Amino acid sequence: NMSLEQEITLPNGIKYVQPTGLFINNEFVKPHQGKAFEVVSPSSEEVITSVYESREDDVDEAVHYAQSAFNSDWNRADPAQRGRALYKLADLIEENAETIAGIESLDNGKSLGNARGDVALGINVLRSAAGFTDKLFGTIIETGNDHFNYTLREPLGVCGQIIPWNFPFLMFMWKIAPALATGNTVVLKSSETTPLSALYACGLVKQHKIFPPGVLNVLSGFGKITGNALTEHPGISKIAFTGSTATGKSIMKKCAESNLKKITLELGGKSPHIIFNDANVDVAVQSIVNGIFYNSGEVCSAGSRLYVQDDIYDTFVDKFVKYTEDNVKVGDPFAPSTVQGAQNSLNQLNKILQYIKTGSQEGAKLLTGGERLSEKGFFVKPTIFGDVTENMRIVKEEIFGPVLTVSRFKTTEDVIKLANDSEYGLAAGIQTTNHDRAIHVARELKAGTIWVNTYNDFHSMVPFGGYKQSGIGREMGQEVLSNYTQTKAIRAGI
Ligand code: NAD
Repeated sequence: NMSLEQEITLPNGIKYVQPTGLFINNEFVKPHQGKAFEVVSPSSEEVITSVYESREDDVDEAVHYAQSAFNSDWNRADPAQRGRALYKLADLIEENAETIAGIESLDNGKSLGNARGDVALGINVLRSAAGFTDKLFGTIIETGNDHFNYTLREPLGVCGQIIPWNFPFLMFMWKIAPALATGNTVVLKSSETTPLSALYACGLVKQHKIFPPGVLNVLSGFGKITGNALTEHPGISKIAFTGSTATGKSIMKKCAESNLKKITLELGGKSPHIIFNDANVDVAVQSIVNGIFYNSGEVCSAGSRLYVQDDIYDTFVDKFVKYTEDNVKVGDPFAPSTVQGAQNSLNQLNKILQYIKTGSQEGAKLLTGGERLSEKGFFVKPTIFGDVTENMRIVKEEIFGPVLTVSRFKTTEDVIKLANDSEYGLAAGIQTTNHDRAIHVARELKAGTIWVNTYNDFHSMVPFGGYKQSGIGREMGQEVLSNYTQTKAIRAGI
């Protein structure tokens, strides 16, 4: 019979009160079945706290309140009111940014620097969405003087949102901002390994009465129980999911079979990163580090397949390996010198180590790293495999860790083929100083985001999402709004 909040001191010395309950109808409550689960710090392997676990009956309750809120003034009153709520939440998050970054770093294992970046982008995402609330224009369509035609953009209803553990706070912002801006209400499930930052933000929502009761509901819990209950619930109109392609496919099936829920899926990737012989070497090196070691490699858009042009391959790869060994410091997420923190869980650590073993068995040449850093904490050394071939599993499959594969290419047309030879299409990178080449290759690559002379570089107004099996729909920018609204056409005889 655990309490609904617990005082925690973060490794950076900040003391705060962590809510542990389910956030339903603007209250923290205990679940019907009263179960809780432990949350482990990936860097120390110690238990941080426990949080309450939601199940089917809690999902039911949250959906009930979200439906009532949907049928209230929330999407009928002046939409600028929703904007003001989102702006206010953004301000509160900004005021508490250092606490949230600390929670995120402790809970996920990522470096404090990475966590600060997540919070900053999350704030921008909220503000960008807030600015759209009173700019959701319909259209007037002329068809002659005997009719008047116009369209309205209406919200969908209760949105079920399921987020992963690699960007727990940022994904929370990405998901709720557009859904709420367009007048929907939300029941969101956080990841079972990283529930803390979303609950903390709900504490701010409650304390400052940001939203009417029932507009935002957040449940900690497991995919197969809570996630599944959301997917099958007839009171939910849409599911937005970020996570693995396999889980995304099973969710899509269930959404179809239950009540044909609308869906947005943001799934896995195995993104190519191309280094042409005319690249600015320093820019390329920094982009590759961001591409594969940022967030400990646990990034859906990670630039995990590196293609280096033949004539610079040996010198460039030598330089990059040396740069990695000298600069990509792994360890304590709270140490200022740390570039790469811990992997999120023991499962993920083991999955990565298994792939590293597979790479060596497949005959890839290990250039650096290739092992766990120490006995304690889920740390992996930055790992680079050279001279890989296209059929290797480490080149085909998403590893979701700090593991880079490098291969050679001769011509632009060759590398376009290699880059596109994947079931995924989330992102791609191009390093070149030749603009014609950049524009040509960017057009030919089959991916939702193309980074040129930068990588893993996000902006709240630039849409993000996948081609092929990397997903359906877009996050952020103006484009995400169409994933949370439906068009009503009115044709009146006059
Ligand atoms: P996952 O896709 O299984 O989990 C993501 C979220 O979905 C979590 O909140 C989880 O509780 C929930 N979930 C799981 N099964 C569900 C179900 N049947 N119904 C509804 N919700 C469900 O991912 P994972 O197991 O945590 O990680 C496995 C692999 O997925 C990783 O190794 C990585 O390759 C990939 N991944 C990708 C992303 C991404 O951003 N694209 C994020 C996380 C993981």
